[in-house]
Amino acid sequence: MITENKSDLELVRDFHRVWHPCTQHKDFETTPPILVERAEGIYLYDRQGNRYMDVIASWWVNLFGHNHPRLNEALTRQLEKMAHVMFAGITHQPAIDLADSLVALSPPELEKVFFSDNGSTAVEVALKMSLQYWQEKGKTQKEQFAYLKGGYHGETLGALSVCGLEIFRNKFEKVLASHLPVEGPDCFRCPYGLQRESCNAECFEPMEKALSENSDTIAGVIVEPLVQGAAGMMMYPPVYLKKLQTACESLAIHMIFDEIAVAFGRTGSMFVCGAHDLRPTFLCLSKGITSGYLPLSATLTTDEIYSAFYGETRKLFIHSHSYSANPLACAVANETLKLLTENNFLESLKPKIAALKEYGKQFDSMEGEFRQTGMIAALELTKKKKERFAAEKRVGYQIFLEGLKRGLFLRPLGDVVYFIPPLVITEDEIGVMLNTAHDCIDAILK
Ligand code: PMP
Repeated sequence: MITENKSDLELVRDFHRVWHPCTQHKDFETTPPILVERAEGIYLYDRQGNRYMDVIASWWVNLFGHNHPRLNEALTRQLEKMAHVMFAGITHQPAIDLADSLVALSPPELEKVFFSDNGSTAVEVALKMSLQYWQEKGKTQKEQFAYLKGGYHGETLGALSVCGLEIFRNKFEKVLASHLPVEGPDCFRCPYGLQRESCNAECFEPMEKALSENSDTIAGVIVEPLVQGAAGMMMYPPVYLKKLQTACESLAIHMIFDEIAVAFGRTGSMFVCGAHDLRPTFLCLSKGITSGYLPLSATLTTDEIYSAFYGETRKLFIHSHSYSANPLACAVANETLKLLTENNFLESLKPKIAALKEYGKQFDSMEGEFRQTGMIAALELTKKKKERFAAEKRVGYQIFLEGLKRGLFLRPLGDVVYFIPPLVITEDEIGVMLNTAHDCIDAILK
């Protein structure tokens, strides 16, 4: 489906002026970006009318499809009243409603909501709150965070300092705060020879050791619950998180759940913590919160944390973004939550999750692993870890190009091809997505 549109004036202007995220611009000399003109449901349309399935939900954000009438309406309704207003000394109905709903949907211990405007910032807020909490409590030596070696929590310098992936951090290492990386689960290559479906998270051992040996200095531990996305959709069982909870509770360490990618139905439930009876001290949310309409994020925490900041002026939490709790974003988020909670929506995902599993079986004959957690599926194409992100091979990029020809917008992570379509994808469309992806991969690997 790539058309000869290199000479298209807009693309030339793009090439000369725009710096895209996570993009090697030299690639645009041969394959320019898709000039998307409109988007509808799970599809993106370029100006030639070519259609691409948005297989990765526009970087995980889109839950209910593009151009959704109810989300459009919620947005325009709010627009008629107020587009934006600062959020210090001022409040507004959309934010109050949203805070109420998020608290109602999350585990009972989470009672307070701090709004910001992107996922990395939701993480920064949790880290800063955790640090300041311990200061307020006189435990000033608690100023380190434990994080998993495959963990990813955003790319601002604070978030990057708890990122366990070299590819994101190595060029900035010198300016990153020093925290504590811990070996995490790698179920596909389990060093204990166990299966994620039946193990008892024996791989928790390094974390247990790290936390118990350093509990005096560790403020908190941050994890992506169940799926380590940027690491290549590495999936691990909830028992790991149960063990983490027990350790954090007994050692007075904050448990920070970064559910930025996995919340709002992605794993089949509203939040991972709620579904597995887990009680994080901080819950970071973003991405799907507005179903891909506007940037917004929230950091939820407990009354215990909040009350440490309450009282004297010197205790206030200084973290102020101009667009905190943008009313338009909050209004769309409120409508998103309505869509997620009405008509048994989460229940309606079950047959889709089953369809992903069923169509995923066709990958069994390939060398790697097809894995799935709810509406997240991924195919890892090699067991030889060191070949991951092997830039010179660019297998993922070749598959991406092949996908475009066949109407799929895929964005493999190295040799992990992943599928996180909008939740409104149908079972038939899941079939088309996985069958076509299979053909693409076959075409490249043969
Ligand atoms: N944490 C996780 C788990 C993510 O997937 C992302 C998205 N890249 C982030 C944090 C950062 O979010 P954002 O891109 O909105 O800053």
